[in-house]
Amino acid sequence: MAPAVDNEFRGARRHLVELLQEQGIRDLAVLHAIDEVPRHRFIPTGVRHRAYEDSPLPIGSGQTISQPMIHARYLELLHLSGKEKVLEIGTGSGYQTALLARMAAQVFSIERIAALLDRARDVLGEIGVRNVSFLLGDGTLGWRQYGPYDAILVSAAAPSVPPAYTEQLAEGGRLLIPLGVRDEQMLTVITRRGDALEQVEAGPVRFVPLLGKESWES
Ligand code: SAH
Repeated sequence: MAPAVDNEFRGARRHLVELLQEQGIRDLAVLHAIDEVPRHRFIPTGVRHRAYEDSPLPIGSGQTISQPMIHARYLELLHLSGKEKVLEIGTGSGYQTALLARMAAQVFSIERIAALLDRARDVLGEIGVRNVSFLLGDGTLGWRQYGPYDAILVSAAAPSVPPAYTEQLAEGGRLLIPLGVRDEQMLTVITRRGDALEQVEAGPVRFVPLLGKESWES
């Protein structure tokens, strides 16, 4: 822990929360989580000074942490109450994992790159997050053992919905996934209503590719 550094970033984080609020984020639970989670701890030291800008940043292994506005939108669309079991595909830096851990009961997070998963696990441990289970592997297959999930968040883009996600989605559960081509996708919200799947488009996004058996080839 580095309390001096953490305090140094406190003002910058407040500004970010105000910016997100000005840009239309209304959900207080989302704003509160962003205010509480030290984003700089999840950012490599070389770009850490930019941790509270509203922009995506490189996290190593050719991957990026999304811009805070995207995390805020994602979380708003999920309408979490605190009781949910959540599946996250693409742990990356672990920042979104930390936000989810504050807003839901249990988080299951899958990442295919060992170096990223190890680092995310360490940082989450250091900041005292305990309700997350990690899996190193191909997230296009989901994580059947602990399903069904009340929410499934896919942090990488796919050409179509991998079947495991809708299979592992609980009644009333929501799946958020960017669908499209490599350079541009539509953030898609899929809700399970019995045997039916309701699908809504939530706006254009641009994510790194989801690579695996049920998506693009790695
Ligand atoms: N929410 C993360 C986003 C990281 S980018 C953050 O804010 O830091 C997306 C991540 O998805 C990358 O780390 C990438 O390695 C991972 N990914 C891509 N395909 C995957 C797959 N099939 N299974 C698990 N993770 C995958």
